[in-house]
Amino acid sequence: MKHPSFKPDSNCGNCQFFTAATGACTLFPGFKVPAAAWCSAWAKKAG
Ligand code: SF4
Repeated sequence: MKHPSFKPDSNCGNCQFFTAATGACTLFPGFKVPAAAWCSAWAKKAG
């Protein structure tokens, strides 16, 4: 990843917007994202 805000070990699987059970991302309604993906809106999941 070359994006300036990418941090190591950040991915959809540990993003607060990701729902693992359905593969859904709150920010992209209607789409499924793989847990290994990432985008610049990534935010660490609480807990
Ligand atoms: S697409 Fe972005 S906001 Fe959505 S779960 Fe993945 S990293 Fe998080």
